[in-house]
Amino acid sequence: MHTPADYLIAALTLVTLGYWLWVKARPFKTCRNCGGYGRLARRLGPPKDCRKCKGTGLRTRASRKAARATRRTITNARR
Ligand SMILES: [Zn+2]
Repeated sequence: MHTPADYLIAALTLVTLGYWLWVKARPFKTCRNCGGYGRLARRLGPPKDCRKCKGTGLRTRASRKAARATRRTITNARR
């Protein structure tokens, strides 16, 4: 017998797993500041490297940053 709560938990688990796989598959997103171009046009002079993505045009996902920070903290604590 399945109650509605069981279905809800199953659906939430599937959504979480799907999102996790999605994030694992593509850890980078296009930089919103420069639109993936990596440079910003200036009114005068040559284009400047985007400061947000350091000229790569890619942005790290927040979840990936959090995962790296957690791993670093655990490693430091073990030392
Ligand atoms: Zn950028």
